[in-house]
Amino acid sequence: MSRLPNFRPAIPLVDLKAQRQAISEEIATAIARVVERCDFVLGEEVFLFESEFAEYCGVASAIGVASGADALYLACRALDIGAGDEVIVPAMTFASTAFAVSLTGARPVIVDVRERDALIDPEKIECAITSRTKAIIPVHLYGRCADMAAICAIASEHSLAVIEDAAQAHGAVYAGKRAGSLGDIGCFSFYPGKNLGAYGDGGLVTTARRDVAERVRILRNCGSRTKYHHDEVGLNSRLDTLQAAILRAKLAHLEEWNAARRRIAAHYDEALRAISQVHCTPGTPGSVHHLYVIRLARRDNVLQTLNDRGIGAGIHYPFALHELEAYAALGYRAGAFPVAENWARRCLSLPIYPELTAAQVDFCVAALEAALRGDPAG
Ligand SMILES: *Cc1c(COP(=O)(O)O)cnc(C)c1O
Repeated sequence: MSRLPNFRPAIPLVDLKAQRQAISEEIATAIARVVERCDFVLGEEVFLFESEFAEYCGVASAIGVASGADALYLACRALDIGAGDEVIVPAMTFASTAFAVSLTGARPVIVDVRERDALIDPEKIECAITSRTKAIIPVHLYGRCADMAAICAIASEHSLAVIEDAAQAHGAVYAGKRAGSLGDIGCFSFYPGKNLGAYGDGGLVTTARRDVAERVRILRNCGSRTKYHHDEVGLNSRLDTLQAAILRAKLAHLEEWNAARRRIAAHYDEALRAISQVHCTPGTPGSVHHLYVIRLARRDNVLQTLNDRGIGAGIHYPFALHELEAYAALGYRAGAFPVAENWARRCLSLPIYPELTAAQVDFCVAALEAALRGDPAG
């Protein structure tokens, strides 16, 4: 799409500035604390944030890392996944879910998603399992938890690990437990636009397994437990102390922000019900509504019209995993994952962020209706 480089829509998909104003003093104080102490790498705030986030998720350990992508990669490494192994991933997700597997030398094995919510289809997992399969990575896409009861039952029957990709699900609840505490390992991203976002990149691994926690701590810090003693080949993938301090300040607001997202999503559900061309997927009660995604037949025209009207609608995601250039070599053919392909062609994300007002939601819905009528002026 042609856009001026600094075009800023009237209603963006995510409005980081709206949130920044409300918490600017808390953030300034948090940053000042770190600058004062100068403990920039693995400083006190990292360990405090790790224990607070672990407690929030209801899990024994949390290890801060440099990004969500690294969290997923380190989770695979901690399970000794590597060349010759296979890991099951859903066809509809952000590329990093599968890249984490590929970077270890293992092969991502793609499984189609469910028609109703684009989450990995448990009924299609079993026939993708081989003697080389080591783990399943369900993705809690758009803030909704995958069908963890079914997935964990399959995993335990076949002795596979379960790595939750919870990058879009901070605080999501499934059967009374939080995302990140449902499988063997949980992986979070603190990319700025996520429900809990840093002021830069950041990520985190949660686990109840002591062996995994210990291994991730070593791997994120150059494979080293004691300075200059490198037990194995590791990364520099530490959560920055400044980011940890910012995340601690923001974690205190996460519940109220997720509640606001629930209200906004319910408002969209209600307002869109009357529009026959719009296919909605109302969220489950535990969803944290990272994105509000609808499906439409003439998606691309509608997207263009909304963007022209200053509404930052987006697409998550325009391609299924097997359609990515990076995965041509996996050898999947077009049509291999029809449900994910259909989602990729038809999905459209409407603006959602905690500060979005009811009037702005109504404005987006009215613009969507006008776009569906083919009326570009609205
Ligand atoms: C954002 C995201 C990631 C990657 O996180 P980064 O912090 O950007 O590396 C992985 N998986 C999913 C589902 C995501 O949404």
